[in-house]
Amino acid sequence: MSNKDEIRTRRGLLLVVSSPSGAGKSSLSSELMSRHPELTLSVSATTRPPREGEKDGVHYHFLSESEFEKRKDAGWFYEWAKVHGNYYGTPKQAVIEILERGCDVLLDIDWQGAQQLHQHRDKDVVSIFILPPSMTELESRLRKRAQDTDAVIQGRLEGAADEITHWAEYDYVLLNGDFDATAAKMDTILRAERLKRFRQTWLTEFVGQLLSQK
Ligand code: 5GP
Repeated sequence: MSNKDEIRTRRGLLLVVSSPSGAGKSSLSSELMSRHPELTLSVSATTRPPREGEKDGVHYHFLSESEFEKRKDAGWFYEWAKVHGNYYGTPKQAVIEILERGCDVLLDIDWQGAQQLHQHRDKDVVSIFILPPSMTELESRLRKRAQDTDAVIQGRLEGAADEITHWAEYDYVLLNGDFDATAAKMDTILRAERLKRFRQTWLTEFVGQLLSQK
């Protein structure tokens, strides 16, 4: 495909990635972002405290519970959910602006958020669920991360089983045993989904012109 083809007007998509914590979703999302700098990562709002190294406005918009509730009631979120006892939500306006420019948004959100986005905007949503190779591996990845206390890790392990029960609600399900192979599959999904006929909005005019040349 030439560069000229790549820059034709297209309908943007919402690439939703979910998994239990520790299944590799964040690293896979970062890898996809580095392969596709034109992708925009949706920065969620949350009421959970920042982890070491997390910056407000970059990793999350860190909000107090009352501020989150105020914005939730004002319809500020495209979707929102309570995950591990904290609120999380996707700011609506930012996402809509990107889609309207014909660009794509990457969203790292849980199954509740994925369900809501499928309801609001099914045609634009492409959802991927990442499975860990085993629960033992999941636990070891959570412990290696060493960002959370034992109690938090235990809670996340319990939440993992619940998250996994929603695997069949996603368009694609990837088993993340080998990081590079899984990253390559995500890349393939994005490239193929971008080529879907209804996303290539330039085609109608192009075909019209093509036929007028007969
Ligand atoms: P963490 O606290 O580890 O950053 O995220 C915990 C969980 O919340 C992850 O499964 C993540 O995907 C999910 N999450 C993050 N942002 C959002 C959001 O805006 N909406 C929803 N529904 N889930 C989110």
